[in-house]
Amino acid sequence: EQSVYEILHQSANDYPNRIAVIDGEKQLTYDQLLQAVQGFASCLNEKGVRKGARVAFMLPNCLEYIVSFFAVQHLGGTVVQVNHLYQSVELDLIINDSRPSWIICNRAQTEKLEQTEWNRRLNILLIEEELSYEKLFGYVPMAFSPASINWEEDVAVLQYTGGTTGKSKGAMITHKNIVSNIHQSFAVFSSVLNKGVEITLGVSPLSHAMALNNMNMTILIAGTYVILEKFKINSVILAFRKHRPTVFTGSPTMYISILHFSDLKDSDLTSLKICTSGSAPLPLEVRRELEEKSGARILEGFGQTEATTATHRTPLIGKQKLGSIGVPIPLTKAKIMDLENGEKELPVGEPGELVVKGPQVMKGYWNNEAATAETIRNSWLYTGDIAIKDEDGHYFIVGRKKDMIISGGYNIYPTEIEEVLYAHDAIAEVCVFGVPDEYLGEKVVAAIVPIEDKTIDSTQLLAWCNEMIARYKVPRELNIRKTLPKTTVGKILRRQLINEYIETE
Ligand code: ATP
Repeated sequence: EQSVYEILHQSANDYPNRIAVIDGEKQLTYDQLLQAVQGFASCLNEKGVRKGARVAFMLPNCLEYIVSFFAVQHLGGTVVQVNHLYQSVELDLIINDSRPSWIICNRAQTEKLEQTEWNRRLNILLIEEELSYEKLFGYVPMAFSPASINWEEDVAVLQYTGGTTGKSKGAMITHKNIVSNIHQSFAVFSSVLNKGVEITLGVSPLSHAMALNNMNMTILIAGTYVILEKFKINSVILAFRKHRPTVFTGSPTMYISILHFSDLKDSDLTSLKICTSGSAPLPLEVRRELEEKSGARILEGFGQTEATTATHRTPLIGKQKLGSIGVPIPLTKAKIMDLENGEKELPVGEPGELVVKGPQVMKGYWNNEAATAETIRNSWLYTGDIAIKDEDGHYFIVGRKKDMIISGGYNIYPTEIEEVLYAHDAIAEVCVFGVPDEYLGEKVVAAIVPIEDKTIDSTQLLAWCNEMIARYKVPRELNIRKTLPKTTVGKILRRQLINEYIETE
């Protein structure tokens, strides 16, 4: 029943001189990281941050994020994760909903905060003032032991969902949730990753569950976490060359961008042992190419904020099935339930709602009992994703319940059509969605970004689709564009595309 702070403490005991974090020119060994965390915890304590306090974080990826995260955990507080790119409407929603007493941010964020209703009640801690790199070791670590926490009940992180399908909701992630999921994630890789030697390249925002889990797992194995502020292709490739990471976690759109980088050298990806892909389906073509260029094991993972991060992974040993999200990770159970009311378990091969159970399933949504009751039933988390289980117990995501297109009475899953389009050699990125249609109820539209220097011949592309999929699934319209809107973790914003389409009609 450790906390994440205790995990850091353990790694610092075992590997004091190993580099824990690298952020540009700045870096900290495990020993220094622990000292900085204890020092900043005493600073926060002096200011009045106590066990149970909600401390919002609104920072880009940086070393100070990691120091602050463990400091708040040391004190037994709750970290409220706020995406630093959020603008006033999104900010208002999260700040007014979570009502933190403190916020740790940088100066650039204060103007946006002033516009929130809750602003008057917030104590603002600027990292430039309280936690500059120079100040990291300026605090005297106070001799206090970590706060005693209720492992199963106390909320370590209030993690808002990505907001891909609607308004984001705050998932209450307990200490048990977060620590279990770190161990569960590591258990899958334990035969390939070793303590004290791995290097993780972290590019996804730490304000998102996936990156936070990845960072914590790196600390668990006393690895080095090389942090980049964001996914910028040139800096990512440079970081591959300079740091030779062994672990990379990304979303499919990041992998696509890496593979399409015009100056990608043969050796750039060869240090990798493991690449994990999550947050959206990894197109088969992308996976094959990545495997070929890196020689790494590519593991697809599945999960959601409500399950801390991960529930499924393709197995490292044994049968790998293309297109599958794999099997439930240790201590996780899963089953497929009917789509009408979710009460009947469906047999092998039938698509239904994926439901999961395990120590990583959140306590509930913050301030939203109705949504909690709908999402967690008898300790089973209803994921809102449609999946199929095969005879070997491997799971395949078919789509999200909310994304399913009903056209002319047929159920159509965007992912299936996207897979077909990704196989076309002129297409870099694609997103398929449904829009209201007078005759069909909904019709299928494909937003497509061509590969640089290639043009799309719509007639030829549609004829090509017609050969591969049933007529009713073939897009009625192609929307050729330069980019697709994405969340900060690189997930394509299908809802935004639908809204844009409807507005321009
Ligand atoms: P919101 O729930 O607010 O709409 P969001 O879905 O982006 O936002 P997350 O919790 O970050 O919030 O995303 C979880 C979802 O991402 C899953 O429910 C699933 O739909 C999708 N997903 C994650 N991994 C995969 C994967 N490997 N394959 C397909 N879909 C995935």
